[in-house]
Amino acid sequence: MNTQKYGIGVDLGGTKIATALIDSEGRVLARTSCLTEAQEGVEKVLERMYKTVEDVLLEAGIELNEIAGIGIGSPGPLDSKTGIVHSAPNLGWKNVPLGDLFRQRFQVPIYVGNDANLAGLGEKWLGAGKNVGSLLYLTVSTGIGGGIIIDGKIHTGSHDIAGEVGHIIVKRDGPLCGCGSRGCLEAIASGTAIAREAKAGIARGESPLLAKLAGDGEPNAKLVGEAARNGDPFSTKLLEDAFTYLGLGIVSLLNVLDPEMVVIGGGVSNLDDLLFDPVRRVVKENLGTSPLGDVPIVKAELGADVGVLGAAMLVVAQN
Ligand SMILES: [Zn+2]
Repeated sequence: MNTQKYGIGVDLGGTKIATALIDSEGRVLARTSCLTEAQEGVEKVLERMYKTVEDVLLEAGIELNEIAGIGIGSPGPLDSKTGIVHSAPNLGWKNVPLGDLFRQRFQVPIYVGNDANLAGLGEKWLGAGKNVGSLLYLTVSTGIGGGIIIDGKIHTGSHDIAGEVGHIIVKRDGPLCGCGSRGCLEAIASGTAIAREAKAGIARGESPLLAKLAGDGEPNAKLVGEAARNGDPFSTKLLEDAFTYLGLGIVSLLNVLDPEMVVIGGGVSNLDDLLFDPVRRVVKENLGTSPLGDVPIVKAELGADVGVLGAAMLVVAQN
């Protein structure tokens, strides 16, 4: 790591842009955020992103020539080498040359990465994986994404697709996934999948408690967790099933990657033991006689900061 220069991370999300300036130890010296307001168009969003960068420089009292670069985390698919965001449906972006635009504006090295990959990088350098070199990161939220970190760096693969753990197929003829396949992990164990099954269960009259908790609204994974903690058999089984498949997916990934640690983040990971117990049990059942059975499976530590810190580490970890 470069010991003198600073790095800036910009986390471009569907609702919020978060930006931070960190030193080579990962300490945050300045931070800011604003709403994305993607409906106003690409140029307006870019202007807002530029402004957050200028704001953190000003706040930290650091000149542009003192920073080692700017790391940007964006929804994908994207090309991390050219910095082109091929498509970000949440933002309405298509083929935006994000890297080049930032380079023209700031004349410093610009690094662009997929948000889940950067979250993995953040956890490796500043979060749960601080003391390991390689880890597998999974984010379980509306979808399931991931990042593979090897020797402290993101493994992007040859098409920037490595780490798309949500689309490994764990159930033949399972539920249809947004990607077009059936039985993907994301179609079974994501927050969206759990909400879908909860809604169907309520419609069948299988869980009066969940129906009561959801009221006039839609059920979500958090409510299913609440019902499970209150002894609701339907909710308990729904989560057990979903996270058993998550565990099976992780068994396969452990066999392929042999990481030092598995870190699970994203909103659904806040179900804590309701998620981690079945996952760890399935891993033990299937890998109990292998060293892989002892690989720690832990909760992410950086919370909502994971994106912006990961983006900033993309700069610092290159230097
Ligand atoms: Zn899929």
